[in-house]
Amino acid sequence: MKHQFVIIGGGINGCAAAWLLAAAGEDVLLLEAGEIASGASGGFGRRGVRGNRRDLREMPLMRAAYRIWPTLADQLGAETGYERTGGMSLIEQETTGTKGGLVAADAQAAVQRGLGVPTEVLGRDRVLALEPGVGPEVRAALYCPLDGSADHTATTRAYAAAAEARGATVKEHSAVTAVERSEGRATAVRTAQGQRYEIGQALLVLNNTGAVDLLRDQFDVHLPVWRILPQALRVTPKAAPPMSHLIGHDHRSLSLKALPDGGVMVSGGWRGRWNADLGRGEPIEANVQGNLRAAAEVYAGLADARLDIAETSQPESCSADEIPIIDRIPGTENALVGTGWTGHGFAIAPAVAEALTFWARTGARPDSLAPFSFDRF
Ligand SMILES: Cc1cc2nc3c(=O)[nH]c(=O)nc-3n(C[C@H](O)[C@H](O)[C@H](O)COP(=O)(O)OP(=O)(O)OC[C@H]3O[C@@H](n4cnc5c(N)ncnc54)[C@H](O)[C@@H]3O)c2cc1C
Repeated sequence: MKHQFVIIGGGINGCAAAWLLAAAGEDVLLLEAGEIASGASGGFGRRGVRGNRRDLREMPLMRAAYRIWPTLADQLGAETGYERTGGMSLIEQETTGTKGGLVAADAQAAVQRGLGVPTEVLGRDRVLALEPGVGPEVRAALYCPLDGSADHTATTRAYAAAAEARGATVKEHSAVTAVERSEGRATAVRTAQGQRYEIGQALLVLNNTGAVDLLRDQFDVHLPVWRILPQALRVTPKAAPPMSHLIGHDHRSLSLKALPDGGVMVSGGWRGRWNADLGRGEPIEANVQGNLRAAAEVYAGLADARLDIAETSQPESCSADEIPIIDRIPGTENALVGTGWTGHGFAIAPAVAEALTFWARTGARPDSLAPFSFDRF
């Protein structure tokens, strides 16, 4: 069986790419090892769609993503759960490391504004007017009115369904184990299930943590990328969720999102550990407690919340300089890879997919992808 475009990975990046290619009339096959949205793009809760405090090199992609998100559900014909609530990075200290604290807030806001991410510094009174539940230590916030969150699982499934509706072939339980190459081109892939699919035009490797082994074994390319196991907690507060914005924090590892059913997703950089026997991540109790403590110290309304879920089984790829690698695979002219999202790949995925599929179809790399090349290492 031959397809012009073959995509490996059924997370948001692979599914968005499949939809864009199919919508452009291309012949596309997407192969997913498990089920659609079974990796980092799946699981409970929501994902932040934020420009606030994003790595500055990702801002052009974020600007494009801000444009796409509000109309995406209409374009896909299915819910994404996207809400533009506005987002805050709460500030408690005068200085934090080299980049944080009150002393850096005005400069950070100006830089973000200059890169197309509307940002304001709010003093405590204005923070309280918008977020009355914050604790007494909060002195200010970096506020981005265009930030918000979306239902990542629903969005990923919506992309996959829309891709199929536009003629893409989506195959679950199809783990790619080998890539055939000839004269500097990827010519076919093979799956663990014994299938072989020929590639007409291009191969897109969008299997996140799986790209590391695939590129090493099949392309002899070694990525400075590894697997992390982000921790996500779901709690139910006694009263209504005490926050209405997407909440991040200047110096604490803390991210908070109110969920539509009255729960709150608590995360922000805490990790689980790999359990080799189970073949998946498992929570570390001290990290669960640390994350809950940080949440309760900033929002007293979370102090007596009930812990419902502690999840660490959605593996994510992390790169050496904390921005993704999105590039042509060295030595293979028709194969592109995107990985190393480092915990912030969801928000920009609609824009990454636009840029990547343009590159795959035309052979010309969009400027927005220039910072993410292999040769920066
Ligand atoms: C708990 C948590 C919170 C996060 N919060 C945010 C946030 O607030 N904002 C944000 O922007 N980002 C966030 N992220 C990061 C974001 O979710 C990821 O960067 C993004 O979902 C990556 O999408 P992907 O499609 O590249 O990868 P994935 O969703 O991991 O998809 C890759 C797919 O490839 C499949 N696969 C692997 N190997 C193979 C193979 N050999 N053959 C076929 N298929 C294969 C996997 O099964 C998987 O389904 C968070 C991540 C986690 C885990």
